[in-house]
Amino acid sequence: MKFCLACKEPYQSDRWECTHCHMSPLLKNDIPIFHPAYVSENDGYNPDIFDHMPYSEEPHYFNKARAFLILWIIKHFFANAANFLEIGCGKGTILSKIQEAHPSFTCWGSEIYLKGLEHIKKKLTNVHLFQTDARQLPFYEEFDIIGAFDVLEHIEEDVAVLKEMYKAVKPQGGIILSVPQYPQLWSQRDEFLYHKRRYTRTELVKKVRDAGFRICKVTSFNVLLFPLFLLIAMHNRYPKKNYNPFREFNIPRPLQKILTEIFALERFLIQLGIILPFGGSLLLVAKRN
Ligand SMILES: [Zn+2]
Repeated sequence: MKFCLACKEPYQSDRWECTHCHMSPLLKNDIPIFHPAYVSENDGYNPDIFDHMPYSEEPHYFNKARAFLILWIIKHFFANAANFLEIGCGKGTILSKIQEAHPSFTCWGSEIYLKGLEHIKKKLTNVHLFQTDARQLPFYEEFDIIGAFDVLEHIEEDVAVLKEMYKAVKPQGGIILSVPQYPQLWSQRDEFLYHKRRYTRTELVKKVRDAGFRICKVTSFNVLLFPLFLLIAMHNRYPKKNYNPFREFNIPRPLQKILTEIFALERFLIQLGIILPFGGSLLLVAKRN
């Protein structure tokens, strides 16, 4: 069901018009805009990064590896799912992989910036898009799966986002999250990416439980490259004048290939049920109680 952000009532309709108070969002290029004030500016990210960031596009190894892992999670934990919402879907890298692997899924994507959504609209047909602040989702018990991949760390009120996710998933549905791990690894890179925090496992688990979810799986990933991350973090620990944030994202293709293979090995270990004890990122799967 849809959820009216004005009168706070769920409603059933194919259209974006509340059946109780008749409020409807602005439309821009057929994309509903729920929070016009944040379309081009807020403190969670810099939309210009989209234009310069090979990181958000294939074939960066991290994106590729993360997408494969997410596909496995969907198959393993959400075998009966029919729809999926990604919050903070960026340029749509993960949405396109999910659509490819599950052509029968109804896929939805949300972003706070219109820029990313307009990019996806050109690239992917059949994905429903809307602009919103993740602290207010215009849905009620609608989705089998909601994913937020490296999104929560950009938002001050991450607990509010988790509560909205709880409201928007079906009673038998659940969420998949990935976040950067270890506050001790905080560096200039996190500041460049507008991160508000890096998580500890305890903090993430507690926040997800407090929002009402039951944890199904939580594991580290990005393990085998962890020593490399440690070196980068140490190197970027203190602000440098000549810091070039794009350097570490511009990885030559042959090296990307090797890194992707390393990640494939890691995915294999996770699929075997091995909980990886440490790593640059955390992956969490939870369901509504
Ligand atoms: Zn209403």
